[in-house]
Parts: sequence; structure tokens; C-alpha cells
Amino acid sequence: MVLPAACLFDLDGLLLDTEPLHARAWQQAARHFGRELSADELMALRGRRRLDCADQVRGWITASGGPALSSSELLAVRQPIAEALLVQAPPMAGAPELVAHCHRRGIPMALATSSSREAVALKAGPHPWLQPIGVRVHGDDPELQRGKPAPDVFLLAAQRLGVDATACWAFEDSPAGVAAAQAAGCRVHVLPPPHLDGDALARTYPGEPTRLTDLHQVIGALEAAQ
Ligand SMILES: [Mg+2]
Repeated sequence: MVLPAACLFDLDGLLLDTEPLHARAWQQAARHFGRELSADELMALRGRRRLDCADQVRGWITASGGPALSSSELLAVRQPIAEALLVQAPPMAGAPELVAHCHRRGIPMALATSSSREAVALKAGPHPWLQPIGVRVHGDDPELQRGKPAPDVFLLAAQRLGVDATACWAFEDSPAGVAAAQAAGCRVHVLPPPHLDGDALARTYPGEPTRLTDLHQVIGALEAAQ
């Protein structure tokens, strides 16, 4: 296998174990307005920008007879819950080792995240091992047109590294993120949440991305690549 021109990393649920915390914050905010979110609904929110999620959740609240809300009314409830939770997020298993491995071998890296610059600063603060990832595309990046599942985040990350997206390996955990990386032409690796297996995996991630059970596997694949 050929070494990637660069590794493009999602952040939430891939490098940092934030997704259960994001889900808990959306669940508590929706519950505040009388709506329980299902596991499938929470999965559909994964990997998307905060405002896109807010539009989706307030739509679900209204459709089931709840109040007509603005995104800012919903986020006023959700954000304090999320911020208190997210600073506690631990790394995903193998993430610090993988970033250090790429850094040591001189494999270019970029962050391709739906999270805003401010949210990344909050979450990444306790994790100095993320610092070698110097090139970053945020969900509120002024040069970014469309969020995931559109390919723009990955295309912009590759462009900033000066490489072709089709020569990059992309790492994702969410259906929206996998779709984005596939549309950008990257070689896509997915780290699915542990509760998905069998048919649910194939349904959730069409297009047969390379499935990972642990990021340590990627270090092995990079060591085997030329
Ligand atoms: Mg993610």
C-alpha cells in the first residue's frame, strides 16, 4: 500500500471521545422542550455543524407538537450543558499515539472538523498531543462553503496542505463525515461507535469505507505502507 499524501482527521468521536457528551447535551436540551430523541436521531446529528443540528432538532421538536423555537432559543439551553461536558472529553484509544506517529514520520496532517474554532479551542485545551496538527478547517471557517456531508471540509484541508484529496487518508466516525470524505475522493477509514454491528454497520456507512476497531490499527497500516 502507498503511504498517504496526508492524514485528514475528524475530531469529535475520532480523536476525542466527545460524541456521547454531544448526544447527552442534545438529549437534555430536547427534553427541556418535551421531546425525547431516539438513538437513530442522535446518530443522524453526529458529525454535523452545531447550527445544522439545531435546525434539525428544533424541527423534530415542532413536528411532535412542541413549541416553535428559534435555533438560538434551543442553543441557549444546549450550549451551557455541552460546554460543561466537553472539557472532560478523553482521547479516543490510540489517538495520541497515531498523531505522534504521523508527526515523527513527517506525514502531513490536518483537522477536518465541523466544530467551530471556539469549540475546538475548548475541547482541545486539555490535549497538547493535538498540537502537531497545525492545519485546521473548522465548521465556521470563513473559506468553508458547506458543512459535512458536503465534501468541502476535506477538500479545503487537502488544499491547505498542498496535496490532492484523492491521495489522502480520511478518518471519520459519523455517517455525515464518511459521506463528506467519500465525496472528496479520499481513502476513507471509519471508526464506528461500539453499539453498531453487523447489518447496522453496512446500513449506516454505505460505500464500504475501511472499518477500524481501534486507531492503533492505523499505525500498523502506516508502518506497512511504503
Ligand atoms: Mg465525528
